[in-house]
Order: sequence, then C-alpha cells, then structure tokens
Amino acid sequence: MNKAIFLDRDGTINVEKNYLYKIEDFEFLPGVIDALKKLQDAGYLLIIITNQSGIGRGYYTEDDFKKLNDWMVVTLKEKGVTISDVYYCPHLPDAKIKEYRKDCECRKPKLGMYHQAIKEHDLDLSQCYAIGDKIRDCAICESSECKGYLIGSNENQSVIDAVKGGEYKNVIYANNLLNSSNEICASLNKGAV
Ligand SMILES: [Mg+2]
Ligand SMILES: [Zn+2]
Repeated sequence: MNKAIFLDRDGTINVEKNYLYKIEDFEFLPGVIDALKKLQDAGYLLIIITNQSGIGRGYYTEDDFKKLNDWMVVTLKEKGVTISDVYYCPHLPDAKIKEYRKDCECRKPKLGMYHQAIKEHDLDLSQCYAIGDKIRDCAICESSECKGYLIGSNENQSVIDAVKGGEYKNVIYANNLLNSSNEICASLNKGAV
C-alpha cells in the first residue's frame, strides 16, 4: 500500500484568485515547491483534489482547466516535483451548464474523489494527510484515520479558531503548506506516524 498527501489546489498550492483558469494568473504560493519536494522525498504520493465549479458555472471550460493543469504539472516536474494524479469536480447542483448540473458525490466536502484516489493508488489512509485552506479539504479526516492540516487564512476565523482548539478530529492548523510539510516530516522522524 502507498501513502499520499491529498492537496487542495487553489489557496494551497497557488494564490487563491476566484475562478482562476489562465496560466498567466497562476502564482505558486511561497515555499510550495520546497514543501512538495520534502513530502515527496518522505515517500508520499502527491495527489491534487480540487473543486472546479467554475466549469459548471460556465466561467471557463473543462479544456481551459486541463490546459492550466497540464502546465502546472509540467512546471512542477521541471522543478523536481511529481504530481501522481489530479482529480477535479466540475459539478454544481445549480450549474449554468446543463451537463455539469448535478448533486454529485465528488464535490468537496463529499469524498468521491478521495475514494477514487484511494482505490486507484492503493492508499493506506492511516498514513495519509489531507491539506487545504478550507475545512472541506479535510472532511475525510472526520470519518477515517486520515490526518489533516488546515492552512493559511482563507477559511473563516471561527473555523480556524475551532481547528486550533482541537474541535475537528485529526485536523491541525498550520500557517502554510511548508509548515505543515515540516511537521509531517518531523513526526515521521520521531517515528510517530
Ligand atoms: Mg482552496
Ligand atoms: Zn462532482
């Protein structure tokens, strides 16, 4: 079995800009490349799981998403980071574009994309982490042994405070992806997986 980091994309890997789809608007957050390299070197598969309702809303197309995604994956590869897989949800219950109008099982906080990843990559959830800037990115921690980090300041302050107060099972707060990665690697070195 393998272990993986489930990574949110917007606000976690790149600067959150609403409904981003243009390569020229994509900006890696500080420390992200270092963070991903450390996790990769520690033996984790890197798997991106992202809600992309902008597709269903008609703000950009699935092709636009794929173009940006390919660019991101290639750019990371050139920097020495291998992304093992990217799962995205284009749906929304009231999507403007009919083919994406669906109360699906994949839109986070639902876990469809995680279950697919677990199956396709033979993951041992007890060794996995979910990391994102919204609490929905850590929803899998509630119902499994997966651990999680809420990072940054994009989530509501009340939720951030609740995470800091230990109110979300298996989820801890970190300022950014690099800090969470350092903590994950440090706990491995201590043998406290
Ligand atoms: Mg996000
Ligand atoms: Zn979906």
